[in-house]
Amino acid sequence: QNALLSATGTTIFTVMSALANQHQAINLGQGFPDYDGPEDVVRAAADALLDGRNQYPPMTGVPELRQAIAAHNARFYGLDIDPNAEVVVTSGATEAITACLMAVLNPGDECVLIEPLYDTYLPVVKLIGAVPRLVRLSPPHWELPRAELAAAFGPKTKAVLFNTPMNPTGKVFTAEELAFIAELVQRHDCYAICDEVYEHLTFDGAKHIPLMTLPGMRERCMRIGSAGKTFSLTGWKVGYISCDRSLAPNVAKAHQNLTFTTPPNLQRGVAVGLVKDDSYFAGLSAHLQQKRDRLGAGLARLGFGVLETKGTYFITTDVRPLGWNGDDVSFCRTLTEEAKVTAIPVTAFYASEGAPNHYARFAFCKGDALLDEALARMERWL
Ligand code: PMP
Ligand code: GLN
Repeated sequence: QNALLSATGTTIFTVMSALANQHQAINLGQGFPDYDGPEDVVRAAADALLDGRNQYPPMTGVPELRQAIAAHNARFYGLDIDPNAEVVVTSGATEAITACLMAVLNPGDECVLIEPLYDTYLPVVKLIGAVPRLVRLSPPHWELPRAELAAAFGPKTKAVLFNTPMNPTGKVFTAEELAFIAELVQRHDCYAICDEVYEHLTFDGAKHIPLMTLPGMRERCMRIGSAGKTFSLTGWKVGYISCDRSLAPNVAKAHQNLTFTTPPNLQRGVAVGLVKDDSYFAGLSAHLQQKRDRLGAGLARLGFGVLETKGTYFITTDVRPLGWNGDDVSFCRTLTEEAKVTAIPVTAFYASEGAPNHYARFAFCKGDALLDEALARMERWL
């Protein structure tokens, strides 16, 4: 059997969701909304099923979705993307991440990754035979350690993979930070894989900036989006990659060998979604900001150290102010078993030794009543 996979544990999201079910806990662990996405998007996908869109679609995505992705890039970021040559639709951003890594990495190449990291990054880099170079962000402010980042790049660097807005930190990379990364990417003549699945989930006026929009980055970036996040339909698993025509053929070949195509009816739904009015996208972040505030204020009232979050579905909390002396894993287990509320231990997002181990991540993409009930349960427990 494959040694790397044998050594890879079951993902923390599955572990904690199973534990939540076992204890009938409110699941604020795995990030998925408990409300449905826009009705017109769902209906378009349902209609497409009945309309006979049930056979293999074109490999890189149905034309109407590729066009919608190009139009979305132009509308929000001023990016000029050719729908026929610079877009690849995948089965979720998860596949997109793997496809982009496969597209550019050869065994022995180095790939810079930023901790805390999303849990598929590291195993996939290693499966390709590439060498991960980890750079760590630390709470509470998650600043980019510029000297360490620069030192992680070297002659063998082929790619950097990072996530903004960032899960689980809620950090939205600033223009200055992105310019710093862009300079490194250019200096080391490498590529950037930009996991931007939370691109529309930003708060307090924070603006998501794709690295791809910076000077010199158009040809070097693979920009990844996810319908799961943008339309609150996480089970759909429709992802999309926008990248230069010089990169897209290899990305498409990776996709060809991973899943080949993505369900055509879901693609049709996402195409309807991506051309929705600006008010939809503004409404999505406003809706989530209100939930962030509701859960954040409640957690602070209970005594958690609530870290700032400018984007994503997540709030990270310091559990030490509660008087908790154990680590984050024991906290999240005990919270599930006793308070009947589930969170994710932030150490799950760190691979290197000595990670901060007293932070718990809560998802706030839930109905207000559920958030209130979770807070009430924790209040009774504390
Ligand atoms: N990247 C990040 C940072 C995520 O949080 C997630 C979780 N949804 C994904 C990628 C995967 O997205 P998808 O469900 O579209 O595969
Ligand atoms: N992205 C989601 C999270 O961070 C979970 C996705 C998954 O379960 N793989 O919670």
